Amino acid sequence: MVYADGRMIREPADLKNTLTRDALTDKLGRPQRSLRVSVTDRCNIRCRYCMPEEHYVWLPREELLNFEELTSLIDAFTFNGVEDIHLTGGEPLLRPNLATLVRMLRTNPRIRDIALTTNAVLLAKHATELRDAGLHRVTVSLDTLQPDRFVALTRRDNHADVLAGIESARRAGFQNLKINAVVIRGVNDDELSGLLEFGRGIGAEVRFIEYMDVGGATDWSPTKVFSRSDVLEKLGQKYGDIEPLIENSSSPAERFKLADGAVFGIIASTTTPFCKNCDRSRLTADGLWYLCLYAKAGFDLRKILRDGATTEALISRVASVWREREDRGAELRTLEKNRSAFISIDQLRKDPHLEMHTRGG
Ligand code: SAM
Repeated sequence: MVYADGRMIREPADLKNTLTRDALTDKLGRPQRSLRVSVTDRCNIRCRYCMPEEHYVWLPREELLNFEELTSLIDAFTFNGVEDIHLTGGEPLLRPNLATLVRMLRTNPRIRDIALTTNAVLLAKHATELRDAGLHRVTVSLDTLQPDRFVALTRRDNHADVLAGIESARRAGFQNLKINAVVIRGVNDDELSGLLEFGRGIGAEVRFIEYMDVGGATDWSPTKVFSRSDVLEKLGQKYGDIEPLIENSSSPAERFKLADGAVFGIIASTTTPFCKNCDRSRLTADGLWYLCLYAKAGFDLRKILRDGATTEALISRVASVWREREDRGAELRTLEKNRSAFISIDQLRKDPHLEMHTRGG
């Protein structure tokens, strides 16, 4: 296959006839469609549900993949069925020249969708160049409309920057903006309709996310989870009937429609996981590949790459690992009695790869 930048990649002989869109599936019959690529583990805010500690162990800079290395790895994934790339972090806009990476990804004809998940603190500065580079979509994480609450939640005073970032993304022409809000009981569960109306006002779809007990969430407890059914009940009280949208989609968000037509989503990974449809995996900024947000170990693709593996070898490696995948971490968590934070702070200090901000959320 010839790429738009002139590179040519041969299909490995053993995969040639098997890599049709539906051929490569894991042990539970799940295809590989979406890759979340964390471009940095650093973040410029400190959300209480993600980075509650004062100090963190960061990935060594020399271990971070450069853009050529990243795109080589991503090529191997797209050869195996991935067509959606989500750039994430840490905060992805902290990675210098992110637009250059987007431009490089746009030369890969197998990629259908390139999305960015950001806290939007720096989005006003970068929205236009990212749009010009060919970024398709932006999802902004915004948990509150109250500036004081934003400071309490993130320990940074950037609420106005986030709102300016969202406005810049709109003006730059991004369609299908999404707002992701993690809902925590007693913290921001009084803002569901406010966030919904904010989204409606700017033409963005709001997705309410259940607080997850993943790495980083060391303050997690079941009592703080504002569940899918809590969200539906609360919005039902205000808006009346809520209709589920029946969709054939592997998106993590279940979508619903209010009687007045407004559509919103719920990502219920804590109480109602979607493992059986999970077609995503995660690549950290230093090239470790995780098949599940709850996986405790990843595959070191950086080592294979820096040891000189050919693209063909990388493609075969990704295929063979995916075929053996049987992770369903979120479902198994629901079977846990006395559920508490998944990873202890001591373990997180020993291995930053266990952190949510390293894996990209
Ligand atoms: N900095 C970017 C952002 O804020 O969108 C990307 C990285 S962030 C880790 C990705 C997503 O993970 C965000 O939407 C964030 O709200 C979510 N997240 C982090 N910790 C979470 C938790 N414990 N439960 C649920 N969602 C979480």
